[in-house]
Amino acid sequence: MPELPEVETVRRTLIELVAGKKIASVTVRLPRIIQKPADPAQFADALVGHTIQTVERRGKFLRIVLDGLVLVSHLRMEGRYGVYPSEEDVELHTHVLFHFEDGTDLRYKDVRQFGTMHLFAPGDEFTQPPLSKLGLEPLEEGFTLKELRSRLERRKSRIKPLLLNQEHIVGLGNIYVDEALFQARIHPERSPESLTGAEWSRLHEAIVSTLQKAVDAGGSSIKSYVNGQGEMGMFQHQLLVYGHKDEPCPTCGSAIHKTLVGGRGTHFCPACQSLKAGRKMAKAAE
Ligand SMILES: [Zn+2]
Repeated sequence: MPELPEVETVRRTLIELVAGKKIASVTVRLPRIIQKPADPAQFADALVGHTIQTVERRGKFLRIVLDGLVLVSHLRMEGRYGVYPSEEDVELHTHVLFHFEDGTDLRYKDVRQFGTMHLFAPGDEFTQPPLSKLGLEPLEEGFTLKELRSRLERRKSRIKPLLLNQEHIVGLGNIYVDEALFQARIHPERSPESLTGAEWSRLHEAIVSTLQKAVDAGGSSIKSYVNGQGEMGMFQHQLLVYGHKDEPCPTCGSAIHKTLVGGRGTHFCPACQSLKAGRKMAKAAE
């Protein structure tokens, strides 16, 4: 599933491809992608005559901003956008086509069919689902160490599921949570109340630096992910633990373990990210 760096990369490439284009008509081939309005014909009619102004991002959602409308789009597992000449054959698994007046289409393809689109009047998108419940943007100024700690510290859960929960912090998924916890030397099953001040500080820094480096590299190409122009991100070559089961830890040489945490495949170094050491340290700090 694309996480913050991949969605940010799609956003940046989509702006170049569609900003300034006016919609002549819309074809919805798979109605269930359209979540709002409930009637896909109404969705299509509403967009006719509107021009795309910019593309923004909130968490893992794209906000396609038109004159007088906002389209909120989530790619979920394998959704992707591409711009094609309108006369070009429509590929399999293409579910929504935005036909522009200039003879090109923005086409939404999604093999798994889990993606969603919601249409709003400008501003309304922040007051209603799916955006209304989203937490802090980790690459914006409001994401401070103090804010991170105060939001998570007293929660009764393990640290990895908390970091995956988009109501606390947005944009982190399975790959970047594993990477950030490795960089911070924190076991994914630690409880937030067991983390020391130094560990919170390392975690905050690791979240920001992992995501920023991945954005700079154009995201990671895992499975079928490509950006809005069909290009692959390169960050997968910099992943330190994700996808490296049984390989030596880059820090200490121990074999990377893979286990399940909250039902998600989880990579970590049992030596650098010791669960016991964490408990001991937490006790010593009391
Ligand atoms: Zn290690």
